[in-house]
Amino acid sequence: MQVFPLPKKVIKQIEAICKSFLWSGKDEISRKAPVAWEKICEPKVAGGLNVISLIEWNQATIGKLLRNLQSKADKLWVKWINAYYLKEQDIMTWQTPQSCSWILKRIVNCREIVAQTRYWDEVIQKGKYKTSTMYKDLRGEKEQVEWKRMFFNNYARPRATFILWLTLMGCLPTKDRLARIGVVIDGVCSFCNHAEFLEHIFFECNTTQLIWREILSWVGFTRSPTKWSCEKNWLIQETKKKGWRRQILKIATVETIYAIWRARNDITFSQKCIDPCLKDTIIYSIVMRCTLHRKLNIHVNVTTLCIE
Ligand SMILES: [Zn+2]
Repeated sequence: MQVFPLPKKVIKQIEAICKSFLWSGKDEISRKAPVAWEKICEPKVAGGLNVISLIEWNQATIGKLLRNLQSKADKLWVKWINAYYLKEQDIMTWQTPQSCSWILKRIVNCREIVAQTRYWDEVIQKGKYKTSTMYKDLRGEKEQVEWKRMFFNNYARPRATFILWLTLMGCLPTKDRLARIGVVIDGVCSFCNHAEFLEHIFFECNTTQLIWREILSWVGFTRSPTKWSCEKNWLIQETKKKGWRRQILKIATVETIYAIWRARNDITFSQKCIDPCLKDTIIYSIVMRCTLHRKLNIHVNVTTLCIE
């Protein structure tokens, strides 16, 4: 990408492989995608995963080539293009001849896109070009999500954080969602006989509600949890506050949701029984994640698995 514009078809193919890997762990092209790729490419504050969008990234790298050509940078390739094609003309206004190579045409085609950004004016004034700044400008401002702090600087395991992200996006494949896309499955909660949907698993269900209440009390919050939409709002407010206890609460949220979701999958798809020590397993994971961070390490006791 630093050298030439990739054809759209190639970019599509690369993104298809990335998509398949994210959703299935394999590189075979599959069509299952609970969240749109465009959303995944958004920054974390906007609810995405900050994966690079190749089209805009390529436009930003080509912007650098255009800048080098325009500023007559001391590079052999720039000198050659200038001597052979441009002959002292400005690349940004240059009329492309018919005989010009495919690659150069593609580079020139990018100039309207980069020239209309605010950052391009800054580049002209200051002379420096940063690909990542151009990329951000090309992507544009995104609306921030309320739950960004639950996500940011959360020291829980990344694989567990991914499940929290799906939950926050409302895209966790609960049985009601699966039924809607035509998957034949019993719609019953794995922990009781109620119908399974997001608000039920987190945490209207008696079994999971008890676990969540116990985890909250372990972290130091005495309250009776209800359904997910209420818990989410409470967590949004709590995670705005500073301090180590809120940091541990963030980890606890992620690890609890992950453990419950894993247990649900084990019961539904592997016919396993619910682990009677699930709560202790969650606490163990939280403590282990806390020990990795200097500021949280001093507040957990690895032997007694208590907060102090
Ligand atoms: Zn239930």
